[in-house]
Amino acid sequence: MKIKEKKKTYGRQKGCKRCGRTRGLIRAYGLHICRQCFREKAEEMGFKKFS
Ligand SMILES: [Zn+2]
Repeated sequence: MKIKEKKKTYGRQKGCKRCGRTRGLIRAYGLHICRQCFREKAEEMGFKKFS
């Protein structure tokens, strides 16, 4: 049994919720996602471009 990736880390998240990235994390609004995902999320949520 090989364990290459640990993707089941619900509950304790170090990085982005969506992609696992730890760089450029945005924890505001309890989102816990990276900037890149935030942009996508923001669009979903109806925000305009966030830069
Ligand atoms: Zn992300």
